[in-house]
Amino acid sequence: MVVLYPQYMHGCLDMKKSQTDEQRFWYKVEKTNYCWNWKLSLDKDGYGRIKVNRKKIGAHRFSYELTKGEIPEGLQLDHICKNKACVNPDHLEAVTCDENIKRAENQVTTINSRKTHCPKGHPYSGDNLFFVKSGHRGCKTCHRQKALLYYHKIKHPK
Ligand SMILES: [Zn+2]
Ligand SMILES: [Zn+2]
Repeated sequence: MVVLYPQYMHGCLDMKKSQTDEQRFWYKVEKTNYCWNWKLSLDKDGYGRIKVNRKKIGAHRFSYELTKGEIPEGLQLDHICKNKACVNPDHLEAVTCDENIKRAENQVTTINSRKTHCPKGHPYSGDNLFFVKSGHRGCKTCHRQKALLYYHKIKHPK
């Protein structure tokens, strides 16, 4: 079945009429030895997007469905390579939403737990440690100093 897209019916873009979604897709992929990077713009989360049947979907989803078949109901694609712009189906794994969140959390904790001190060298431990809303760790000493600075600026401007 040939699907014609209204945006391609303006004559000057005649060429594109005959292109299938698949052809358009491969045209925008840059294959490296490891990751296949999406060449076009990425969404705010860093994922590639492609317009298929007038709907924008994740380019990595399209790639997966193209090569491995439909993504099972309720499953999300996880990037094994952690490169969100990558559309290499071998780097994609269909996992449950819970699993995906768990993996992402693990990643954040591993990165954070490597740091034992704040950028100014105060320890992230004991009384000095607190957690901000986003789940990141904060340094109480720095926080207090910032608050104090702010207080002096407002109350006692030079
Ligand atoms: Zn990759
Ligand atoms: Zn600090």
